[in-house]
Amino acid sequence: IKDLCVTVGDKKILKGLNLSVQAGEVHAIMGPNGTGKSTLSKVIAGHPDYTVTSGSVEYEVNRKKINLLELDPELRAREGVFLAFQYPIEIPGVSNAEFLRTAFNEVCAHHGVEPLDPIDFNALMLEKMKLLEMSSTMLNRPVNVDFSGGEKKRNEILQMAVLNPKLAFLDETDSGLDVDSMRIVADGINKLKSKHNAFVLITHYQRLLDHIVPDVVHILWDGRIVKTGDKSLALEVEEKGYDWVKKEA
Ligand code: ADP
Ligand code: MG
Repeated sequence: IKDLCVTVGDKKILKGLNLSVQAGEVHAIMGPNGTGKSTLSKVIAGHPDYTVTSGSVEYEVNRKKINLLELDPELRAREGVFLAFQYPIEIPGVSNAEFLRTAFNEVCAHHGVEPLDPIDFNALMLEKMKLLEMSSTMLNRPVNVDFSGGEKKRNEILQMAVLNPKLAFLDETDSGLDVDSMRIVADGINKLKSKHNAFVLITHYQRLLDHIVPDVVHILWDGRIVKTGDKSLALEVEEKGYDWVKKEA
């Protein structure tokens, strides 16, 4: 991500953001509320409300270099980009199973591979749900409708586990989770992690980072990444807050 500037309406949100994430890495992005963290993740996913005024996002996958900003959101997803929303949306009338199967089949078709037959796909979903300690009854319920806050967050991770993305942004997936749910979600992420994929965790809390040790920690403030360090930077923020980072910036 190079010098990314983003506006919504006439409000400037990202103001020259630079970030480089390699396969096999886990990055954490921290920062005060309202500084542009969710905006960054939504721009990567292709949310239509946000206008990129300058800068570029290059995404390299399967030895292809892709100008990510030129692709429609669904093409980004088929190429392996995934976003777990800070506020997962409800989709009445579409069952979780139907949603997952349709998304999974789209990815298969894009890569020219045969989709799984329904029995094998069902087995895949159940395996992933077991990993996340989710009840199989959630498969037949409409996506996120009447799910508790924690269930919605877990459901985002289920989508991720089924789709097996190359680059995943997780926007405050840990917020609102109790201690056990946090551990289950973190274990799920740790099991998916490999040298072929990368994760960007947007979080306020050190607690998640105790379970998923990040390779790099960034502080986003006022639309830019103003400080980058290792996992000790997250501990420093926990202890001292953000004021010292703002002063330095
Ligand atoms: P963070 O995730 O770091 O808390 P956001 O990226 O959600 O911050 O928001 C950054 C700023 O941009 C905030 O001031 C927010 O109110 C504003 N903003 C984000 N999206 C929109 C939108 N669609 N319309 C108007 N303002 C927005
Ligand atoms: Mg946010």
